[in-house]
Amino acid sequence: MSDCQGLGDCDDSRLHRLYEYLDGALPAHEVAEIRTHLESCSDCLSEHDLECMIRSAMKRSCHEQAPASLKDSILTKIHTARSEA
Ligand SMILES: [Zn+2]
Repeated sequence: MSDCQGLGDCDDSRLHRLYEYLDGALPAHEVAEIRTHLESCSDCLSEHDLECMIRSAMKRSCHEQAPASLKDSILTKIHTARSEA
């Protein structure tokens, strides 16, 4: 239980569920499962934080629909910042 093995879906499907989690589209028991997992898995947590940042940046900068290019440029900036850290 020291890493992602515990939940068994800590791969591409994990990301999928994170997005659903942030959309509020998961049933309560899966929400609880993901919250527990985020507490113990820094990989998923950073992915979660990244997605939260992107979403709030999009909400701030565009009240209607955020263009895909915005997400790309935010992601590029974040990845650049990460690789410099
Ligand atoms: Zn994980």
